[in-house]
Amino acid sequence: MSDRRQSPCNVCGRDTDHDIVWQDNTAKEIPDGSATGVKTLALRCRGCGDCSLCEEEWYHDGLPYEGNESTITSTRFKPPRLWRRTPDWLERIESTDPELFDILVEIYSAANPQQVRLLSVGVRTALDHLMIKMLGGDFGSFEQKLDEMVTTGHLTSSQRDDLAIVVDAGSASSHRGFKPPRELLEGMLMVMEGLVRDYYVTGPMLKTAKASIPPKPPRQRRSS
Ligand SMILES: [Zn+2]
Repeated sequence: MSDRRQSPCNVCGRDTDHDIVWQDNTAKEIPDGSATGVKTLALRCRGCGDCSLCEEEWYHDGLPYEGNESTITSTRFKPPRLWRRTPDWLERIESTDPELFDILVEIYSAANPQQVRLLSVGVRTALDHLMIKMLGGDFGSFEQKLDEMVTTGHLTSSQRDDLAIVVDAGSASSHRGFKPPRELLEGMLMVMEGLVRDYYVTGPMLKTAKASIPPKPPRQRRSS
């Protein structure tokens, strides 16, 4: 029976039991009596069978065989572990807006700690594309598009303010190399997802479903 450990799975979208199917450890002694190295583990998810490599850099105050616990100084996964799963509804927009579909596929593959600027710029690109679709044309700068979204009733002014923050973060990544923290990136993804989902999925679904709602009965006149 192989060793196992809990590890994040990109397919299952959460931490799951993984079999350690192979492992290797390189160690280097440092003249001060400590040691450092990299432990590489090949992992296979027990739920879906997806495989990944986990590289742990470790440091040991004293030699590893002296029985002390090593300190793990950094952990890297190959492929990187994704922060956010692709939404269930994504495939439903492939035929309606193939260009946005392609952008979103790239965005979700960049939702990991090693591609934060690409992710941030990607969200801004998706919003630019979506606003042009929703407005039926390009109204110029992001500022002008956001104003037009409010004028045409696509956004409330508080939604406009949220979207402006997301666009600003994307612009800062594009022009000034800004690396947004994970919390901000997750917020950016949530705002983008809400807008795409409402426009392409929830809105059309509700309009179709409206036909199945029985009409209100005519109001009865009260007899005197
Ligand atoms: Zn899995």
